[in-house]
Amino acid sequence: AAPAPAMAEGAMAAQVPPDEDGDECLSQYRHLLSPDLLAGQVAFITGGGSGIGFRIAEIFMRHGCRTVIASRNLQRVSEAAKKLVAATGQQCLPLSMDVRQPQTIVAAVDEALKEFKRIDILINGAAGNFLCPASALSFNAFKTVIDIDTLGTFNTSKVVFEKYFRDHGGVIVNITATLSYRGQALQVHAGAAKAAIDAMTRHLAVEWGPNNIRVNSLAPGPISGTEGFRRLGGKLAEKSDQFSVIPLQRAGNKTEIAHSTLYLASPLSSYVTGTTLVVDGGSWLTSPNSFSALMGIASSSAK
Ligand code: NAP
Repeated sequence: AAPAPAMAEGAMAAQVPPDEDGDECLSQYRHLLSPDLLAGQVAFITGGGSGIGFRIAEIFMRHGCRTVIASRNLQRVSEAAKKLVAATGQQCLPLSMDVRQPQTIVAAVDEALKEFKRIDILINGAAGNFLCPASALSFNAFKTVIDIDTLGTFNTSKVVFEKYFRDHGGVIVNITATLSYRGQALQVHAGAAKAAIDAMTRHLAVEWGPNNIRVNSLAPGPISGTEGFRRLGGKLAEKSDQFSVIPLQRAGNKTEIAHSTLYLASPLSSYVTGTTLVVDGGSWLTSPNSFSALMGIASSSAK
């Protein structure tokens, strides 16, 4: 028989790993997998100084991985690295680079290889997003999102391939989104950019498979405690009980995304390549795509 709702709720709460709201490390962590799952490995994480990327770095480090966290703002990644090292005891190298400028990526990857002598995992997490109807989107705004998300993912993948993965193999996880699955209103720029990355995932999985490189996408749903969530009106959605339409009845958290990324990056998924893992509590299947509700969020979050 189906469990009573109260019981189901209690059982579900017990399964949700704890998270912290801001860019802070977890105050408690219970390993579900071996703490040395990624021992000896090095992960290069773009966008690793904040939000989902920060938590991916932390969870990887809690599983024995050393990390490089790279984004434009050196102060942001440097402060993040201090917190990560203090919480996990692993090494973390913060580097400044812009995924739109290949020369800065080359310099960062050279620096990472000088420090750690290897890169095993690449997480393409850097992205930019905002809510805007297509009719109000400037040519340049659309281009900027494609530049950062799509071209940035290609640029970084290509540099890491040429400098290390071609000869040693490796794993790439591209952080994408479910926005294009139902043509999400106010998201033509990000939806198109992420759909192109999911296509890139399949192309690169095919071309680079013989080099022992696995390439997968991970598409998160609404994830609390992130800049993306705040900008896309997450708190408002929470208050207005919009999450009740999601099959799992709630937003996800950063630890949950990091755990699913850990699966894709680790030997647990050794035969998985060219696919997209959707981690959204079933959200895209059922969430309404209401233009007028989103317009309300867009105008109130712009204030
Ligand atoms: P976030 O904290 O804003 O992370 C984005 C990161 O990208 C920042 O650390 C930023 O650092 C970096 N970045 C931006 N432009 C860059 C550039 N040109 N070069 C290098 N780094 C750059 O956002 P988040 O919400 O955690 O999102 C992380 C990933 O998950 C993104 O790919 C996002 O699309 C995806 N996602 C998030 C959600 C959600 O609910 N939050 C849902 C679906 C998908 P700097 O400013 O220092 O460069």
